[in-house]
Amino acid sequence: MQIDENKCIGCGVCISYCPVNAIGLTEREVPLTIKGKERKQVSVINFDECAECGVCLRSAGCPTNAIYQQELQYPRTIRSLMSDVLTIAEESQISGRGTEEMKTNEVTGRFKQGMTGVAIEVGRPITGTRMVDVEKIAMAVSVLDVEYEPCNPVTSMMADVATGKFKDDLLNEKVLSAIIEFGVRTEQLPDLFDILKTVETEIDSVFSLDIACLLNPDGSNPTAPYIEGAGLWVAPNGKTNVGLGRPLVK
Ligand code: SF4
Ligand code: SF4
Repeated sequence: MQIDENKCIGCGVCISYCPVNAIGLTEREVPLTIKGKERKQVSVINFDECAECGVCLRSAGCPTNAIYQQELQYPRTIRSLMSDVLTIAEESQISGRGTEEMKTNEVTGRFKQGMTGVAIEVGRPITGTRMVDVEKIAMAVSVLDVEYEPCNPVTSMMADVATGKFKDDLLNEKVLSAIIEFGVRTEQLPDLFDILKTVETEIDSVFSLDIACLLNPDGSNPTAPYIEGAGLWVAPNGKTNVGLGRPLVK
């Protein structure tokens, strides 16, 4: 995103809309319409910190239409893909961060008995995340031989899904958040939690952990003993398919 300093009147309204604090006021010398130059206060966007979320353009209501979207080239397009809710991922044709695969398990049946779906949501407003930190987590969990979700755009950013190594040219891209999504055998959960507790000290962002599974035939949660055993909090969200999504699997 960029600001036309000739149009900006320095009102500062757009600053509070930016979720990663990438907009600030500065003094600039600008040409007068008749002759000469003057110094005035204008807003500028820190190009390296901007996550291309589009919020300032759509929501700030700039009184002079000074904010504009420049043409994005790869790898900067990664920022928009992960941060702008209106950008659609090619792999899944879903907007936002481009995946709903774990949430539709009752229809797709990706994770059967004995398997657990895992989503690691890296980054939040204010902190955001660089893709290099997303890679660190992916490379750490890859030692468990996880199965990455092919319809998740983060998987398509990997140069090697066996190691979780990302393509080098996108590692510095900054995004609001990115979701790593994969399946593991349920008995691997303790190893996964140990890995995450180590890697969380090595990244410059935050992450949350989502887990999806089928319940046991007796209604109990097969992942709960592992989660509680690791000292983590079980916060279940149940989902019952009332027939609006036709199950693709028995
Ligand atoms: S809202 Fe528009 S005019 Fe006001 S500071 Fe931001 S870019 Fe400049
Ligand atoms: S596009 Fe988003 S991240 Fe970039 S300056 Fe605007 S609000 Fe901030």
